[in-house]
Amino acid sequence: RRTKIVATLGPASDRPGVLERMIAAGVDVVRLNFSHGSADDHRRRLVEVREIATRLGRSVAALGDLQGPKIRIARFRDGAVELEQGQAFVLDVALDGEAGDAGRVGCDYKALADDVAPGDRLLLDDGRLVVDVTRVAGSEIHTTVVQGGRLSNNKGINKQGGGLSAPALTDKDKADLATAIDIGVDYLAVSFPRSAADMREARALLGSGGAEIGLVAKLERAEAVADDATLDGIIEASEAVMVARGDLGVEIGDEALIGTQKRIIKHARSHNRAVITATQMMESMIESPLPTRAEVFDVANAVLDATDAVMLSAETAAGDFPVETIEAMARVCLGAERERIAQESGHRIHEGFSRIDETIALSAMYAANHLAGVAAIACMTATGYTPLIASRIRSGLPIVGLAHNPVAQRRMALYRGVISLPFDTSEMTAGELNDRALERLVAQGIAEPGDHVILTRGDHMNAHGGT
Ligand code: PGA
Ligand code: MN
Repeated sequence: RRTKIVATLGPASDRPGVLERMIAAGVDVVRLNFSHGSADDHRRRLVEVREIATRLGRSVAALGDLQGPKIRIARFRDGAVELEQGQAFVLDVALDGEAGDAGRVGCDYKALADDVAPGDRLLLDDGRLVVDVTRVAGSEIHTTVVQGGRLSNNKGINKQGGGLSAPALTDKDKADLATAIDIGVDYLAVSFPRSAADMREARALLGSGGAEIGLVAKLERAEAVADDATLDGIIEASEAVMVARGDLGVEIGDEALIGTQKRIIKHARSHNRAVITATQMMESMIESPLPTRAEVFDVANAVLDATDAVMLSAETAAGDFPVETIEAMARVCLGAERERIAQESGHRIHEGFSRIDETIALSAMYAANHLAGVAAIACMTATGYTPLIASRIRSGLPIVGLAHNPVAQRRMALYRGVISLPFDTSEMTAGELNDRALERLVAQGIAEPGDHVILTRGDHMNAHGGT
């Protein structure tokens, strides 16, 4: 499988033995969602992930995900309530956080009562429930339920059309960012960035302690995707982006979301950035051991759009079938990757190149895709950059990233088509590098005697940019 799977961890993956089975079933990146759980939960989970990955000989990256200025309801006394169409429901920013019931619930964003007015439509839980504001009285926002359903703890609130603005990095995010550095994540997702400046602020906050962390911009605000200059600016200021369809879909509407997913993936790839497609991909598998046909095709279409990774949220964090969901997603990715359009590329075919390593990576892919008998492209890399560039080109052939640095090994876990293999060259002479690399591929079953392998490397191993 070339397409990578990002799985969110939570109570479901905490059940005995489940995390190990999830990783064995094919999780490439675990997502630690700072919207839920404590620092200790995330630290404990990441320690366990690293232990399992080492034992299974796998490179698994960790993606911390900051909550951002997402406005959420507080919690219900009994975990969840059922809202009926037509009933009155109150959002009360002064209500105790644990005291929600079928008539009212608290809210973590105290300014919400000032930001809404009668006539506004609010969408709860990624738009599953809809309420219309009828009256605002002090801390209380009175609404009528337009679309009812089950509402559980800490679900998000959006205002239709966007416009609930709060700074991109909240005080909680700043504290969680420090935790993320401390527990050692590989990637960190910034929620609701409006422009490149928000990403640069996060980069500055990461400082030298978080210099090796890749930033992921979650594209989930109407402003972020409104024009190409803003979108490309955010992409350039990040190591990867996420098509965060939950919030984005609520802000811009489903019909605009369809083309926007394709546009974001295309722009990310042409800027040499990785891209994750997220939210509700296998939603019914929270409660069912099999996906719907619609979900099968949603995942497949994201693969055909050339996403690097597909993401699971509640399916693996809180669902009844986390392992089955990974298995189903892996199966669907494989099926989609068999299609011809998943393997052919016109990427940058009419463009000039400016960097030597980029030129070599792209030339290697061109040669591999056109010469019969090539089993793999193998890149000896210090940082994972050459495999990243190579993997922007569609191919049916594995791109093997051979890196010594564990940070580079894990970072490559996100890149489509890249198999990340630990490779320590420090004890090798220049003359034996190629043979050792080929032995590694044969041992992994990636190539066999008689195959061609296209190998890229620098004369100075473990030095960035020498390819
Ligand atoms: P979330 O982000 O799950 O943190 O809300 C993803 C999305 O909005 O799709
Ligand atoms: Mn979101």
